[in-house]
Amino acid sequence: MFKEETAPHRLTVLGSTGSIGVNTLDVIRHLGGRDRFEIMALTGNGNITLLAEQARATGARMAVTADESQYVALKDALDGTGTVVAAGRSGLIEAATMNAEWVMAAIVGTAGLAPTLAAAARGATIALANKECLVSAGELFVQAVQKGGGRLIPVDSEHSAIFQCLEKDQRPSLERIILTASGGPFRTHSREQMAEVTVQAARTHPNWSMGLKISVGSASMFNKALEMIEAKHLFDVGPEQIEVIVHPQSIIHSMVGYSDGSVIAQLGVPDMRTAIGYALTFPARPQLPVDRLDFARIARLDFEAPDETRFPALRLARTALQRGGVQGAAMNAAEETAFDAFVDERIGFLDMADIAETVMEEMIAFGGATSINDVFEADAEARRRAVDAIARKEKAA
Ligand code: NAD
Ligand code: MG
Repeated sequence: MFKEETAPHRLTVLGSTGSIGVNTLDVIRHLGGRDRFEIMALTGNGNITLLAEQARATGARMAVTADESQYVALKDALDGTGTVVAAGRSGLIEAATMNAEWVMAAIVGTAGLAPTLAAAARGATIALANKECLVSAGELFVQAVQKGGGRLIPVDSEHSAIFQCLEKDQRPSLERIILTASGGPFRTHSREQMAEVTVQAARTHPNWSMGLKISVGSASMFNKALEMIEAKHLFDVGPEQIEVIVHPQSIIHSMVGYSDGSVIAQLGVPDMRTAIGYALTFPARPQLPVDRLDFARIARLDFEAPDETRFPALRLARTALQRGGVQGAAMNAAEETAFDAFVDERIGFLDMADIAETVMEEMIAFGGATSINDVFEADAEARRRAVDAIARKEKAA
């Protein structure tokens, strides 16, 4: 059970206005809120009404909007509260630098990398939802956390599951990790059908309620591709030890296989608060108001092999894992750029993977990153190339 003395006291939530951020504040409220924790900083982007509301409710010391044009509005909304207001990239770094012992990294995309690194550098415990940090910066990110003296606790449901199943003394017997994937809304679609899908259809996840980017990423299985690379860096396993299995009910969150044939799984209802709570009170477990599994009602759990022809993102992740270097950063940045174009209805659903593949091929000869600056450069280069690839698609259409 959760004991006050084992949990951190000063907390920061980067990306507090998003799906993970809102769930994180809900967990914090359930575990005692202001009586038990001190909120050092909250950050958002465009949604300053919610950000201001959150800052008032939690008594946050600092509130930051990434969007500089919203600075004055946020400052007005928090007038008289004593909450320090800042904006832009430097504001995000300031928020991450506040002396919270525990930082939830829940910004979406590579926009979260610099602030999360700033928190890691001063030794905070990083609860990592923002998987793009690991996909882009890989070992450099892990090293930054180690150098800072803090630790990394996964929040992604699959990686939290694996973290919960990995027995500390059994590492030498670890054979494989098995990431489960729901298969998303297009699990049974043909490629012809997928070519025609709308943004609205792609964002409708069968089991989880999440932000737009990850919902579309679940439909294309690009999210699983990111998670394969995330798993490699979190658990220090080889590409051949990472398996993906489609499990449409999203009850088993992931599994670990050992050398004696045993497989250990973590199960629960699809509710991110379990993984968030575990990251907050680890190694204890909090008391949370999530639904309990009713096995008689679930009755059955299904599994299917993933189809890399219909979901090429999985193949791209394997390629990135095998090639190493900046291929993860290239894949992620190209897909983020292609995702924006898909949401703007400039390209089709299947074009996203095509663009990521094109950019990865173009950047194959790029050397590995030896500094975070190299990662930012590779990210920017991949975005430029993705913009060109998108323009070619638009011209051809
Ligand atoms: P979301 O879109 O709901 O929220 C994103 C947050 O980041 C918001 O607070 C937003 O204001 C902020 N943000 C957006 N653009 C920004 C920018 N340019 N600079 C600074 N801040 C910015 O996303 P989400 O679904 O909560 O996902 C957040 C992260 O957690 C992602 O990396 C996602 O892959 C991961 N994750 C989410 C879930 C889930 O259930 N939602 C599950 C596992 C992992
Ligand atoms: Mg996940």
